[in-house]
Amino acid sequence: MPAIRLDGKALAENLRAEIAAKVASRVAGGQQPPGLAVVLVGDNPASQVYVRNKRKACDQTGIRSWLHHLPADTSQRTLLDLIAELNANPEVHGILVQLPLPHQIDEKAVIDAIDPDVDVDTFHPENVGRLMAGHPRFYPCTPHGCVQILQRNNIPTAGREVVIVGRSNIVGKPLALMLMQKPTPNNPAGGDAIVTVAHTRAPDLAALTRRADILIPAVGVPRLITPDMVKPGAVVIDVGINSVGGKLCGDADERVAEVASAVTPVPGGVGPMTIAMLLSNTLQSCERLDG
Ligand code: NDP
Repeated sequence: MPAIRLDGKALAENLRAEIAAKVASRVAGGQQPPGLAVVLVGDNPASQVYVRNKRKACDQTGIRSWLHHLPADTSQRTLLDLIAELNANPEVHGILVQLPLPHQIDEKAVIDAIDPDVDVDTFHPENVGRLMAGHPRFYPCTPHGCVQILQRNNIPTAGREVVIVGRSNIVGKPLALMLMQKPTPNNPAGGDAIVTVAHTRAPDLAALTRRADILIPAVGVPRLITPDMVKPGAVVIDVGINSVGGKLCGDADERVAEVASAVTPVPGGVGPMTIAMLLSNTLQSCERLDG
């Protein structure tokens, strides 16, 4: 039987509708809408597309967004001054600095400068620490998108073997933390799973991936995961977004759908969920800061 397609696009649309309803009800009650400040430095074409999509999603849900587009030769001082200004602005409930930044700017210094209360990307060390300790302020957007896909499709994780391929700070590492933790009222994304994280030093990647009840490649290598690397009946959540010959594909070969029980498509899987979770964090921040 071919795998079920886990439609992240449709799920993200539902989430956006839920967020839009909450924003509309705030505004109808006389409260200010959530606001997201987006900072883009330079002219990286991929970053421009990501920023455009995020702002469009804000517009669709009634979240205000402001774009601060700075030239590629912007100094670190100028960027830090802008962040200080945004931190102090009561209309701003989320600050997103689109990465990567030009080489003259120290990314870590910039992330550290964002007020953790409005760090909706969850990159600030305080928020990473809170996530690690099991009492998160925000969940990081892409890992949370993956967890939401699992939870909202009633795919259990407790006691099951999850193999994540990739250990980046943005995806693999925080996702592993979330899925291994106990779920609590303050940490509802806790997955109670048995988690393995693979990376380039794995001596036999296929032996690891074949153990997975839930396999999550977050690698950036087109079609790295082939059908023989997937346990029959496994669920595959494909985080990878790769451009091959002008077309997008994931880290899993499309033919894994012949072996797996459920797969996320690329595009239309984890990508739209990442943006939905960004909106959700911005709303949550607004509710926390403004009531
Ligand atoms: P990084 O490049 O930061 O990390 C990639 C990870 O994959 C590293 O840990 C690396 O191992 C590991 N890796 C690379 N090649 C192999 C291999 N052959 N075998 C095993 N492990 C390997 O990438 P990101 O985490 O930022 O992104 C991963 C993918 O997810 C990309 O395609 C990116 O575009 C996509 N992405 C999608 C998002 C979405 O919204 N859907 C959001 C963010 C990212 P090592 O540490 O040893 O180098």
